[in-house]
Amino acid sequence: TLPKLPVFEAIARHDPDSTAVIHSNSGRRFRYGELLGDVYKIRNRLYKAAGKDDIDGERIAFLVENSYDYVVTLLAILAAKSIAVPLSPAFPPPELQYILNHSEALMLLSSAKFAQKAEEVLRTELDVEPAYLQLSKFQGGGLHEKVTLEKTEPGSAGMMLYTSGTTNRPKGVLLPQSVMTAQTKSLLQAWEYSPSDHLLHVLPLHHIHGTINAIFTPLFSGSTIEFLFPFNADAVWRRLAAPFLTPDQTPTSEPHRHHHHSKITLLTAVPTIYARLLTAHKALPPDMQSATRTAISPPHLRLAISGSAALPTPTKRAWSDLSGGNVLLERFGMTEVGMALSCGLDAADRVDGSVGWPLPGVEARLVDVDTHQVMERGRERDADGRERVGEIQLRGPTVFAEYWRNPEATAREFVDSKDGRGQWFKTGDVAVRRTVEGAGKSGLPSQRDWARGDMYFILGRRSADIIKSGGEKVSALEVEREMLALPQVAEVAVVAVPSGKWGQKVGAVVILDRENVPEGKWSPLEMRRGLKGRLAGYKIPQVLKVVDHIPRNAMGKINKKVLVKEIFQDAFS
Ligand code: ATP
Ligand code: MG
Repeated sequence: TLPKLPVFEAIARHDPDSTAVIHSNSGRRFRYGELLGDVYKIRNRLYKAAGKDDIDGERIAFLVENSYDYVVTLLAILAAKSIAVPLSPAFPPPELQYILNHSEALMLLSSAKFAQKAEEVLRTELDVEPAYLQLSKFQGGGLHEKVTLEKTEPGSAGMMLYTSGTTNRPKGVLLPQSVMTAQTKSLLQAWEYSPSDHLLHVLPLHHIHGTINAIFTPLFSGSTIEFLFPFNADAVWRRLAAPFLTPDQTPTSEPHRHHHHSKITLLTAVPTIYARLLTAHKALPPDMQSATRTAISPPHLRLAISGSAALPTPTKRAWSDLSGGNVLLERFGMTEVGMALSCGLDAADRVDGSVGWPLPGVEARLVDVDTHQVMERGRERDADGRERVGEIQLRGPTVFAEYWRNPEATAREFVDSKDGRGQWFKTGDVAVRRTVEGAGKSGLPSQRDWARGDMYFILGRRSADIIKSGGEKVSALEVEREMLALPQVAEVAVVAVPSGKWGQKVGAVVILDRENVPEGKWSPLEMRRGLKGRLAGYKIPQVLKVVDHIPRNAMGKINKKVLVKEIFQDAFS
């Protein structure tokens, strides 16, 4: 028996013959009917390795590649009422060491593929002594094995994810399974995942995006998850194209020739992945170009979602142009709350620059960053007619429980409410709300109770993206958006540069588009000319640095504090 967690109940309800997971490279598939039997077996191996059957609330770290085995491992840890701590194979040993120590892991699991890496970390000096268990490849095979679900307390079953560490050392975010379920149900309603969906999974599995949006939500809905790992833009295009190529167009070396080519209907990724796909598309042979355009057109690729970082409008436009009108759906989320705001399923509800509305079950408010007052709806401007900017605060069943072993941070990031209906979580991100003509009028029942009213527009992180220059507030994200629209700019990070005169100056770190600027030179004057009329004068960067590379983490995010110190060293002396 397994505890009756909602995720297991959902899995048990699906057609046992339908496909739960596919490994894209080998074509190997695993059915829903195999899943719980395997979860049961691995759960028992965990008990054995621990030497007891009570490992409720213990942290179990695991290093497993994107595969069926990852899914089984995650679910087996939940079944043991333990806390799953997924590790990234891309982490260098010190990072793995940090997480093992910080989470006080009882056990470290690894797949055969990462055994060497796991053993290497275990040989280093650790504060903890996790039991080590190497998982051999699961056979699947236990189809229709009868697993009963038993009504018991879910205990501490859950997941602990570490934040991306963009602004500081990664924090351990404790997500009880009830929170994971609430986050999932919200997405199920909003995005209508269904058993006929087939999701192409190209994301890392130690973040909320890759786990809740791209594993948990499909599992709840009975969709198919196809892991394409490691990510490679050409491989993604080949896979998307496969069902649309005639047999003579399919190269015989093609790994996909073996499987029956189901269409991909769902894609979820970060903006940098979409950008890389767009670049790679230009180099595809003509027949592949046309097959892939069909593959990503709206009737076939039902939904392509972007998030984890701001979606540049040129990327969004280019994707729409390429696909014949498939408009990327942008959403806003974070480790602590899962997805919080999202655009809607209707194309009219995917407004450029907006992240939409609070998702079903999520309560959101904006708190004015100057006056600290809650911004009532309809009071979006101050007495001088200026748009008010507020921090996004959230509450509801999708919000995390606590930062692991960090009560100070937990206390700092929650504020009491006056209505006694629970504390608000301070996201640290700021936004404005705007009325958008024509949006929020979807007739779809799934959108009715949330995709309504004024839309949210993210301005960035309060700590790094709101630049205070000469008494004015400038959103780095807004400036980035306009700069990306210039032909000269391939990538940009807008940062606050300390200034004696202004307090802070707007600084731009730019990678040039070599197609449009072959000589590789762009002057501040040319930049200003380009931005005139697009941005108010005080928002136009006062300093410009052209670089070859802007460092980003795995989710495409930039640590601006580090970047600005490295690039504008002179301003800090
Ligand atoms: P850390 O908290 O360790 O500094 P992090 O905040 O980058 O790292 P995550 O929880 O992975 O860690 O990322 C959440 C953040 O990502 C949000 O607070 C927000 O700043 C950013 N983000 C997510 N989606 C969007 C979006 N659509 N537009 C703009 N920013 C986004
Ligand atoms: Mg954060």
